[in-house]
Amino acid sequence: MEKIQNFINGELTPPRNGKYIDNYNPSTGEVYSLVPDSEEQDALDAIAAAKAAFPAWKKTTKEERATILRKLANLIRDNFEEFVIAESRDNGKPVKVSEHVDIPRSSKNLEYYADEILKFEGEKFSDEGMGENYLEYYPIGPVVSISPWNLPLYLFTWKIAPALAAGNTVVAKPSEVTPMTAYMFTKLCNEAGLPPGVLNVIHGLGHKVGDTLTTHKDIKAVSFTGSTATGKVIAKNAGAHMKKYSLEMGGKNPNIIFADCDFDEALSVTMRSSFANQGQICLCGSRIFIERSIYEKFKEAMLVKTKKLRQGDPLEASTQQGAVVSEPHMNKIISFFDIAKKEGGNILIGGKRADRPGYFIEPTIIENLDSSCRTNQEEIFGPVVTITPFDKEDEVVEWANSTEYGLSGSVWTKDLTKAKRVASAIDSGVVWVNTWLMRDLRTPFGGMKESGRGREGGTYALKFYSDVKNICINNN
Ligand code: NAD
Repeated sequence: MEKIQNFINGELTPPRNGKYIDNYNPSTGEVYSLVPDSEEQDALDAIAAAKAAFPAWKKTTKEERATILRKLANLIRDNFEEFVIAESRDNGKPVKVSEHVDIPRSSKNLEYYADEILKFEGEKFSDEGMGENYLEYYPIGPVVSISPWNLPLYLFTWKIAPALAAGNTVVAKPSEVTPMTAYMFTKLCNEAGLPPGVLNVIHGLGHKVGDTLTTHKDIKAVSFTGSTATGKVIAKNAGAHMKKYSLEMGGKNPNIIFADCDFDEALSVTMRSSFANQGQICLCGSRIFIERSIYEKFKEAMLVKTKKLRQGDPLEASTQQGAVVSEPHMNKIISFFDIAKKEGGNILIGGKRADRPGYFIEPTIIENLDSSCRTNQEEIFGPVVTITPFDKEDEVVEWANSTEYGLSGSVWTKDLTKAKRVASAIDSGVVWVNTWLMRDLRTPFGGMKESGRGREGGTYALKFYSDVKNICINNN
């Protein structure tokens, strides 16, 4: 059975304690590889390597760093099929999703920041009596990036690309549940010309290595994507040790469908925003609000489409619904079916584990729930949505904003004035109008309230991974 290795100072390295944890294939429920059960000393080794590599890496030119990032992007492309299959097997997602989303976007993340760093210049300000001001950005030092399991290589590269481009060295910690593609990526780093120690990857359980990574004096910033509960621990650790931190966390996103929408388009995109990746995308619209006059029609149409979703082996090209990522996660999702019933919810379709091996859950639609109930307040992060009719714009905006989260929202209407009014009123980092998950990488990405601190994307991430200096010349 394959033993995944850490990557420290340019070398694939077993955990010092020699211990491994099981890595499951979610579509069979069987163990198919082993993940290092890393501990403090492994994290310290990685931090020491990142520290030693920093002085030389920060002196490299932007062009040199961009060239290496482009090589990494191309190496992923050269091994495209292997990455696609590995991601699907490790996570349970349909191979179509890893083929069209995860793996292409991983290359794009690296290329995007290869381009972006070349344009990243300090701003200049010049006003009479204020002097000639210009800004210089500097790498901040070794940084830590911690990523989740839902989009494994996609979010791993989304974090390391701007960090490396800006001249920092990195210790990355992928999710222990989906370590495979980050491991495969580390095997390409030397070939791409990345100097030893510039990127180090520690696998294993967050609570065993997390404290060391987020509190160590040599780490200058921590970038995290994952649950709000873990984000709070990281904020406490990193904040207490005076590190910069950026947190991308959970969501409970509203999808508001007005009667004057393009019905077919709203329906087809709502199917994706409900069930893509088995609902395990932080941006999924898990609370659907439908204007009452089209409620029954929309509901019936959704039920017809949901019934037709093809659930099956993630590695088969025709599969639309794969497995959820792990047994504990499956059980958490299933526990919400009882909670919803107790809260008065009416499960219209799904509401149970699918009758096959592995961690499959039937896509589920629930109605008749109050906005304040647990099912509508807590992130379930599975193929489960609630639908609720609404009558008034004010009422639906209030419900949309009624959770602790504020990551994303969608609004469907042909009336752009109304769309803009509602979009402005929703407390979230992004609102899509008549679409979902359309992402220009130059835009800020992140959440309000308990969904996030700080923003990634574009120059936002480059600024996060940099220190800025203002130089002011008296030109009077
Ligand atoms: P998680 O918080 O359980 O784990 C995320 C990462 O943190 C993993 O690598 C884990 O090992 C690590 N970790 C756990 N405890 C730690 C600790 N004490 N110190 C340091 N690291 C620790 O999240 P998950 O279950 O892997 O991912 C699902 C969550 O991620 C959902 O809440 C989802 O909404 C969120 N998410 C958010 C975004 C976003 O951009 N906002 C994107 C994807 C996923």
